[in-house]
Amino acid sequence: MTRERYAALAGLLPQGRVLLDESMARHTSFRVGGPADALAYPGNAAEVAAVVLWCAQRDIPWIVIGNGTNLLVRDGGIRGVVLKLSERMHGIAVERNRLTAQAGASLPATARAALAASLTGLEFASGIPGSVGGAVVMNAGAYGGAMEQVVRRVEVMAPDGDVRWLDGPEMRFGYRHSRCAEERLTVLTAEMELEAGDTDLIGARMSELAAQRREKQPLNLPSAGSTFKRPEGHFAGKLIEEAGMKGERVGGAQVSELHAGFIVNLGGATATDILSLMERVAGTVERRTGVRMEPEVRILGEDL
Ligand SMILES: Cc1cc2nc3c(=O)[nH]c(=O)nc-3n(C[C@H](O)[C@H](O)[C@H](O)COP(=O)(O)OP(=O)(O)OC[C@H]3O[C@@H](n4cnc5c(N)ncnc54)[C@H](O)[C@@H]3O)c2cc1C
Repeated sequence: MTRERYAALAGLLPQGRVLLDESMARHTSFRVGGPADALAYPGNAAEVAAVVLWCAQRDIPWIVIGNGTNLLVRDGGIRGVVLKLSERMHGIAVERNRLTAQAGASLPATARAALAASLTGLEFASGIPGSVGGAVVMNAGAYGGAMEQVVRRVEVMAPDGDVRWLDGPEMRFGYRHSRCAEERLTVLTAEMELEAGDTDLIGARMSELAAQRREKQPLNLPSAGSTFKRPEGHFAGKLIEEAGMKGERVGGAQVSELHAGFIVNLGGATATDILSLMERVAGTVERRTGVRMEPEVRILGEDL
């Protein structure tokens, strides 16, 4: 059934690939998640539009992803089409102090391109494992920096295929939020304005931040980074640790012993394990402190 339903998709992407019943565990940094009915690798805006409009005409759900580093896909997988941009839309160009990256470009690669051009401003992003598109949508940030500080304008596609550029203020950036989430806009390209800097200083700052991450974050185990958003006036990791939940386990999912803000997959975790652990952690923290923590990870798909 799936095969017949999605057979025509391949024809929309002459140079690309369409994978059917593709396990999302292969496309998420948590390494969990059931199969997507179809996963497509578009190579340009026209191909993105062709797939999105094809889906819309058939009432088939669709979603765009980047590197899957902020996703928790449920064990039953995703009905409809996943468009993954990081495979073929990952170009990066630098002209003077302006860096233009396609949505699928990796953020660390983009930060390295800035370093190579002696441009400062993206040091904060050098260790965030997402794509440029995912980082713009989430307004990703770390160590006092955030995408909103460097993004000058963004090329977006509306669900009807209309493509336009939005400048920084039009993006309505907030904490881990942008207009894209409100209007289902697909990020195609981001233009960033950086400043001329000293290559050695930029490189040194990136190394320093990488060392801090290695020391404080469980980078050796699959995760999706911070599980919960920072509640106003608090730090999620600290609240979880103070609630005695560090090391807490459900199946193969564990609150990291190194950083309580991360849930890690010890091997063989299911999405159900992770979701149960998230509920247990949030419930315990709320009963103890009255603070309700909201997930930062985007939860997709259906249960088994
Ligand atoms: C070890 C680790 C450390 C991390 N550290 C940080 C950190 O310091 N700071 C931080 O902010 N985050 C951090 N993260 C989380 C994650 O890397 C960021 O949120 C990142 O921006 C997500 O990008 P992505 O391409 O992986 O997005 P995905 O996980 O693929 O998608 C995230 C959301 O964006 C949407 N999306 C993705 N691409 C597009 C697009 N082109 N157009 C429209 N919608 C799109 C998806 O539908 C989804 O809703 C960390 C994650 C890990 C695993």
